[in-house]
Amino acid sequence: MTESPQKRTRSRYFGRSRLLIVLSVLRIVASLTLLACVWFVIDVFQQRDRTSAAIALGLIILFGALRVFIFTQARHLRCPLCHGTILHSNAAHKHKHAMRIPVIGHGWAVIINALIRGKFRCMYCGTSFRTKK
Ligand SMILES: [Zn+2]
Repeated sequence: MTESPQKRTRSRYFGRSRLLIVLSVLRIVASLTLLACVWFVIDVFQQRDRTSAAIALGLIILFGALRVFIFTQARHLRCPLCHGTILHSNAAHKHKHAMRIPVIGHGWAVIINALIRGKFRCMYCGTSFRTKK
């Protein structure tokens, strides 16, 4: 008995979807924090405002704390098939079907697709996963 093409291409459920979604949102928050920090640093140089300097310092500390938390938690977020890290891109060869967004890369493609479409592909083995059952 052969499988229909639709059944073969159906995405697998990713068991750690909740952690993936939380880390994806935190990574976006961290990036926005860095952008806000840059904005306040520019404000410091333009207006010599100490309040902006304090806010910029607070934002860079928040950014660092978020990145450390994301890094330590994302190490546990691995593809169940190839054991590649889902959110961290490394020097390993990427699959030809892996989603990639020019300039921002494979990791951000996973984040954006998981949050918006509820589906993503492992960048190393190309397996399609869905975040909902
Ligand atoms: Zn994989």
